[in-house]
Amino acid sequence: MKLYNTLTKTVDTFVPNTPGKVKMYTCGPTVYHFAHIGNLRSYIMEDVLEKFLRFEGYDVTRVMNITDVGHLTSDGDTGEDKMLKGAKREHKTVMEIAEFYKEAFFRDAADLNIKTPDVVEPATQCIDEFIRVIEGLLEKGYAYVAGGNVYFDTSKLKNYYALTGHDADELKVGVREDVGEDENKRNKTDFVLWFTKSKFDDQELKWDSPWGIGYPGWHIECSCISMKHLGEDLDIHCGGVDNIFPHHTNEIAQSEVYLGHKWCNYWFHVHHLNDETGKMSKSKGEFLTVSLLKRKGYDPVAYRFFCLQSHYRKPLTFSYSGLDNAVAAYAKLKKKILNLDPAGEVDPEAFATYRAKFSEAVGNDMNTAQGMTVLYDVLKAPVNGATKLAILDELDKVLSLNLTVRPVVEEAPVEEVEKDEFTLYVEAMIAERAAAKKAKDYARADAIRAELKEKGVTLTDTPKGTTFTRE
Ligand code: AMP
Ligand code: ZN
Repeated sequence: MKLYNTLTKTVDTFVPNTPGKVKMYTCGPTVYHFAHIGNLRSYIMEDVLEKFLRFEGYDVTRVMNITDVGHLTSDGDTGEDKMLKGAKREHKTVMEIAEFYKEAFFRDAADLNIKTPDVVEPATQCIDEFIRVIEGLLEKGYAYVAGGNVYFDTSKLKNYYALTGHDADELKVGVREDVGEDENKRNKTDFVLWFTKSKFDDQELKWDSPWGIGYPGWHIECSCISMKHLGEDLDIHCGGVDNIFPHHTNEIAQSEVYLGHKWCNYWFHVHHLNDETGKMSKSKGEFLTVSLLKRKGYDPVAYRFFCLQSHYRKPLTFSYSGLDNAVAAYAKLKKKILNLDPAGEVDPEAFATYRAKFSEAVGNDMNTAQGMTVLYDVLKAPVNGATKLAILDELDKVLSLNLTVRPVVEEAPVEEVEKDEFTLYVEAMIAERAAAKKAKDYARADAIRAELKEKGVTLTDTPKGTTFTRE
């Protein structure tokens, strides 16, 4: 497979450290709010990468962290902890917030056919590992204590900017503007490994450490969680492009100093999904989530289809008209597939030919759009329906577009489809209420019941789940 590598800035042939095996790490969500569909674009493309590597025969181990502490509102170590901000917003504890939004994330991921990584590790479970690595960095003289915090000294590195390919001045443009000054830092790009003092003393989760009671910085999480589960070397590290600097740059700095050798060979970054006004936001404008799309009547898999039509290395603009076009194309494709006659024997030669065609397309720096054109080639191919269905099933191991799955609504009468938008909304609210109850967030669960009641919907909890009646 060929893959663009942010580190070398070229499309490289992928060669793992151990033949046949791939160690892959993904920066996970900061669970202070729902993921927006931009975040999920990154997770969809990373999911395709993982599945394609498996399709090519690699034995993949994929690890993802859950950021439940340490990610401040600015990536430059200033501002409030995002988790604490979420807890204040919803009058809950940080752990309640983490649990609730972690479940919400995996529910969205499941709706988008994103496989859960082999290992998922919350940062709060790895405090001992963080402390051990920070101690190692201090011993090696690459970290220092100032004003109660422990900082990584970036001036000691010759190649700090290897990943970005730019220096500090150039990076000022485009980096989040809210990066404030911290007078404890010896160098502007130094970053916090462990906080005991920040402007926000009411941090809820704190742990004892050799430097006092405090909490870890965000960057150290990913290095340590990766090393804990994948050892001293890594084949592919993934994230969105905003992670390149400072997050991944800092991960490389501390990991390679700690280990004393090169850490990760391939850096895979997904470009952003933007809305029509520019940047996707959780606080401004319409907060675009999977549940919002569902409430509006969209099948989340149609959003996956929308993402796969574009190359991961190009920014993508979301619009409802763009999504509607994807919905129409997806429906047309599925209709053709579901009309195929499954009778007959599978032709192994045709199967191998189209599999290879797909492998070549997607293997060329994850050209998923090109990969999808193979689906149309298969439909037009001079082979029987059984062969076409077998090939489509095979390619769908990577694309995960439910290509040969018959929709349940297919048997529903026309009225059923027409009433859908409101029903989908009620069902989404019932699902959210179930998740809130599971997270012991009874206030939210009651608020949902009350909101639905106002709209004339009465909920009844039964052992098999919640049913509803409408006035
Ligand atoms: P966060 O939950 O903020 O830590 O972000 C989770 C993932 O989403 C990270 O890999 C980010 O790089 C990525 N991400 C953030 N914003 C976008 C966006 N607009 N489009 C695509 N990926 C994004
Ligand atoms: Zn990370």
